[in-house]
Amino acid sequence: MAVLKKTKPRSTASSSRQAETVQPTAGAERTVGIAARVGPERAGAILRSSQVAMAFEALGDRWSALVLREVFLGARRFEEFVAATGASRATLTLRLRSLVDEGLLHRQPYQTRPTRYEYRLTRMGSDLYATALMYWRWERSYGPATELPPTLVHKSCGATVMPELRCRGCGELLTIESVRVEMVAEPDERQVSLPKHCLHTGANSWRENEQGPVHVVDVIGDRWTALVQATMYYGLHRFADIQAALAVPTNTLADRLRLLVQAGVLSKTPYQDNPPRYAYHLTDKGRALYLSAFTLHQWANRWLLRGRVAPIRLVHRSCGNAAEGMVVCDHCREELRAPRAIHNTMIAGETERDGRAHRWLDRPHHGAARRWAHHPPAIRVCRPTRSAV
Ligand SMILES: [Zn+2]
Ligand SMILES: [Zn+2]
Repeated sequence: MAVLKKTKPRSTASSSRQAETVQPTAGAERTVGIAARVGPERAGAILRSSQVAMAFEALGDRWSALVLREVFLGARRFEEFVAATGASRATLTLRLRSLVDEGLLHRQPYQTRPTRYEYRLTRMGSDLYATALMYWRWERSYGPATELPPTLVHKSCGATVMPELRCRGCGELLTIESVRVEMVAEPDERQVSLPKHCLHTGANSWRENEQGPVHVVDVIGDRWTALVQATMYYGLHRFADIQAALAVPTNTLADRLRLLVQAGVLSKTPYQDNPPRYAYHLTDKGRALYLSAFTLHQWANRWLLRGRVAPIRLVHRSCGNAAEGMVVCDHCREELRAPRAIHNTMIAGETERDGRAHRWLDRPHHGAARRWAHHPPAIRVCRPTRSAV
């Protein structure tokens, strides 16, 4: 899509040069990248103990992802989550408890007799801001985006912003082609676990809605789907190699690959006729999702490693530094950061109005109205339609 091909002149040349060197020729290769060096099984063990796998574990399933999305859009209270997600009260209770246990949300009483609680982002949760912006970017470019603010305006410079992920070291745009995976430690087998959640059946599954538009939560809310995608980052493209890497049942893998192809995230190319065999590669749409995976990797580095040594690190090919990304305004290049104040969440405007961080405690939330009333700190939400961007 045009918006994702928009690059600053100084980075265009190197990005396309790198793309030439690493773009796989459909079906010709067996493994590339880290899988070519260590083999599919070991690459799979590394992947399953990697920071991104840890992050998906912490973020939970589709319902948890939906709750987090609503929190970033300003939801706080149980009834708001019920209305916005369509989840049952029992499901929501469990997911909210899990997000509190994982340290992403904390409960704050807003009423006594009876005591009622609001859910707010912790610092750890707020630190997913960069990832939330990358998901917004992807939905804006490739998804239906009906649930999300169509336009974001950077408060500092006043410009309509398309958040960009840039290397903190050299300032260039980070892309999947410009980042190399390096193995720095043996994968910790204790961390290698299979997905706990398999929400592919039942209400709100892809299977029921597979003709409909694909949201980010469809791609990240199912652990197998997320891991299958991530095998592409490691250079695994053939069914047998992906299966060996993830130790996933073949029917499950076939199912997820089919859905990812249907969603336009992966392409499928024959590499053998008899019997027919296919190789899978990320499309532009799939490669664009890498930006959120990258920010998740960094988030996991900060919050989930807890003293453990990560099996991989990411290196920016252009500058040779460990790839450290920052999400910036594409207009003024200022970094778009969540407030560092503890529990101040992502709501902007509150301190502008009265100088207090708790302004919103008194403010009622009303369905769609609160969607637009609350917004992340560095940006404000515009009501205009998408065509205004
Ligand atoms: Zn760099
Ligand atoms: Zn700006």
